[in-house]
Amino acid sequence: MSVENTAHTAILGAGITGLSVAHSLRTASQDNRQQSFHLIESGDQVGGALQSTRRDGYLAEHGPNSILIKDKRVARMLDDIGLGEAESHAALHESLVARKEAEKRYIVQDGQPHAMPASPLGMLRTPLFSFMGKLRFGLEPFIGKYKGREQGRGEESFADFVRRRLGPDMLASAAGPFVSGIYAGDPENLSVRHAFPRLWNLEHNYRSFIIGALVLQFGGGNNPHRLAPSRMLSFRSGMHAMPDAIANHLPDDSLKLQCQVNSIEPTLENDISGWALSWTDASGNQQTGHYRQLVIAVPHHRLCSLPLPASVITELAPLTELEAPPVTSLVLGFKREDITHPLDGFGMLIKQAENSPLLGVLFSSSMFDERAPEGHVTLTCMMGGSIHPEYAENDDQVVLDELDRLLGVTGAPTFRHRTAWSHAIPQYGLDYQNVLDALAACESKHPGLHLAGNYRGGISVGDCIVNGLELGNSLL
Ligand SMILES: Cc1cc2nc3c(=O)[nH]c(=O)nc-3n(C[C@H](O)[C@H](O)[C@H](O)COP(=O)(O)OP(=O)(O)OC[C@H]3O[C@@H](n4cnc5c(N)ncnc54)[C@H](O)[C@@H]3O)c2cc1C
Repeated sequence: MSVENTAHTAILGAGITGLSVAHSLRTASQDNRQQSFHLIESGDQVGGALQSTRRDGYLAEHGPNSILIKDKRVARMLDDIGLGEAESHAALHESLVARKEAEKRYIVQDGQPHAMPASPLGMLRTPLFSFMGKLRFGLEPFIGKYKGREQGRGEESFADFVRRRLGPDMLASAAGPFVSGIYAGDPENLSVRHAFPRLWNLEHNYRSFIIGALVLQFGGGNNPHRLAPSRMLSFRSGMHAMPDAIANHLPDDSLKLQCQVNSIEPTLENDISGWALSWTDASGNQQTGHYRQLVIAVPHHRLCSLPLPASVITELAPLTELEAPPVTSLVLGFKREDITHPLDGFGMLIKQAENSPLLGVLFSSSMFDERAPEGHVTLTCMMGGSIHPEYAENDDQVVLDELDRLLGVTGAPTFRHRTAWSHAIPQYGLDYQNVLDALAACESKHPGLHLAGNYRGGISVGDCIVNGLELGNSLL
């Protein structure tokens, strides 16, 4: 059987980016700005990297454990889908704000987790930085801007940026581990301008990021969308609650799961360009659709497997070649009494010099309630990444031995859940500008084509939502 569909927009991929595009089109339809759309997903559920498993009283996040809300548009979307923090929702909604203790973060040095200093006095006392390293840090406001791009020396890496502004100690003991935690990346190969644009802008706009951070902290800056203070959230049933809630608010029949896209072709009728798609639906029926706009929100490493015109695939070569290392997330449950460390924080990141088989460990049950049964705790261990991709294949015993060394974990795990991501996080490397240029050129050559996802405009869940909402708005 063949079924014909028409709508204004087709969105391929129902990860958080594609869902956010759909959400903004749905909101516009409610305002009577007619925007019909189909959201076409190959998997049997929405959410992409945002998947959660609840079992035996534990909650395992397969991908992100939390979302940092620092933009009013994200907070508004959560309100719209019934997951906001507004009191009227309190009985119904699932939203969980991270516990106060989650503000504490540990860095492992010489086999010991040390709390990151949270005050100037803490900075003076911490063993994480040498005496000279602390002095060097104090010079930051006096360091000039990077002039290398104007002088033809190209992009500055995150590592060079931190070494130049704060000194090598800060890179080894704080900034490097921080890059492992966010990008699972190599600080020497990430472009500071693209991977950490807010940090780069502080230097660019205020000459010093200590001065810039202080200006923003005390109400300066001109971003009307900024939500201050920002908050870290998750949900009772896990991060998957968010994509689920967005999907539940979409118009009937707009979401199409388990679809295999068979062809994607540009069309031109009466001088109006568009896109014709055909796919096999979950029941094995052949479907076709005609659209004015086509948003592709699948992961960048899956773009080549889409039946796109050959010219599009060629134009997108810089994107499809973007590195995205493997990362494995191993969630382990333990009896509380089997761990010596107080687990009083967000988690620990590990300095590269430690040669650890882990990138870091999140103290998941210390961050949010309902992550482990009474008397038990949940740890989420991340391994792999750009520097040691092979560690993504570490077996559980390697992880258990390391947890024993660093946290004093003795008993056997009472829960295990393992997720392997073959292409976890796209790395915004030193030649990333070529990727952005290729995306822009491809879109301008193919009217109605839009490319979105965590490979463009930020990898965090919050950035993906903002970019998706903005793209949706631009289609109106
Ligand atoms: C292990 C891990 C931990 C992370 N931790 C955090 C964190 O703590 N905080 C944070 O902010 N971010 C975190 N991130 C990053 C963040 O989760 C991702 O960047 C973001 O979720 C990506 O969303 P997306 O919609 O762009 O892509 P995806 O989530 O990859 O979604 C793409 C969708 O496209 C679908 N698709 C693929 N091929 C096709 C096709 N041919 N046709 C139709 N559909 C298709 C997929 O099934 C998927 O549903 C983490 C990521 C990982 C992997």
